[in-house]
Amino acid sequence: MHVTGPLFPEASCALAARFLTRALFDRLAMRKTATGFTLPLAIQSGQKNHDSSIGIYAGDAESYTLFREIFDPVITSYHQITGPVRHTGELALLDTADLDPDGDFIVSSRVRVARNLAAHAFPPHISRQDRQCVEKQILDALKLLPDPLKGCYHPMGELEPEQIPRECLAGRAFPPGDRFQEAAGIIRDFPLSRGIYTSEDKKFMVWINEEDHLRIICMERSGHLVRVFNRLATALEMLGQYLVFAAHPDLGYLNACPTNIGTAMRAGVHIRLPKLEKQPEMMKKLARDHGLQIRGTAGEKTQVTGSVFDISNFRRLGVSETRIIQDLSFGIAALIKKEKKL
Ligand code: ADP
Ligand code: MG
Repeated sequence: MHVTGPLFPEASCALAARFLTRALFDRLAMRKTATGFTLPLAIQSGQKNHDSSIGIYAGDAESYTLFREIFDPVITSYHQITGPVRHTGELALLDTADLDPDGDFIVSSRVRVARNLAAHAFPPHISRQDRQCVEKQILDALKLLPDPLKGCYHPMGELEPEQIPRECLAGRAFPPGDRFQEAAGIIRDFPLSRGIYTSEDKKFMVWINEEDHLRIICMERSGHLVRVFNRLATALEMLGQYLVFAAHPDLGYLNACPTNIGTAMRAGVHIRLPKLEKQPEMMKKLARDHGLQIRGTAGEKTQVTGSVFDISNFRRLGVSETRIIQDLSFGIAALIKKEKKL
């Protein structure tokens, strides 16, 4: 593979652009994983979108080892790891009170993990046939779940967007308009073999074949983040008995985006902070100091509407699930305290 000119757009501040020198690219460009994934495919999205923050996707589990010379610096930089990379997992159930018992600030709490099946290429690189096979395996596993996780499946192809239960979406899911996913190859063949499984109470759901084979999600309209986490931990433990997830001893669970490895968990709240919204620098500093990420109301790279921010943990690798929830609770309490004071 011979590519001339700059590897990434000049304006790119993607981590991959920072670490991928021409010499390294030339050295790795001829390599191919067993599923046929290559480095030029991995950086497509970062090349097409100058505002990518990472700029590289994995097409399968092997990408992380075959191209580790570029994935490793991206991973250690994003997850702020100083020593050796070491995944630690702990899904111990927690006992903590509601973060906002009067419901003054928190609209909803959500915890999700990303997972891929070890035996198949990940969504940026999966074939049509394999995607179908992944969907079937996941649905077979979901059928074995007991109450209250039991539910039904909503295949994307058979539903108009307005028919999808609102609770499942809370904004958007499977956004075919996402140019980052589009350029990464994740939207190919949409809507085939994509869908959302929801429990009857809609507090547990699984997105199938979005950015990863599985996004396992628990959410509810309250500030009881710990209750949501405990529900997810239970569901995850059960699903893990039926499905073999892609994982690596040091990197933890492996997923399409290097920000989503390790615990691959993003826990967060939708929280209304009208006063802090007017003090963006103060809010950013508070978030940074507590290891929090701020996203828009409809998800990553969207705007904040009605002063409702999506506040979640930034790191997912090198920190356990339990610790993530504890640190996040602490950070959210600090934000609420500041909002009340302003
Ligand atoms: P991820 O890929 O990490 O799951 P995204 O930023 O892509 O998250 O958002 C996925 C969807 O989840 C979006 O529709 C977003 O609005 C919704 N969402 C995220 N956090 C919450 C929350 N705490 N409460 C309700 N909906 C949420
Ligand atoms: Mg997403």
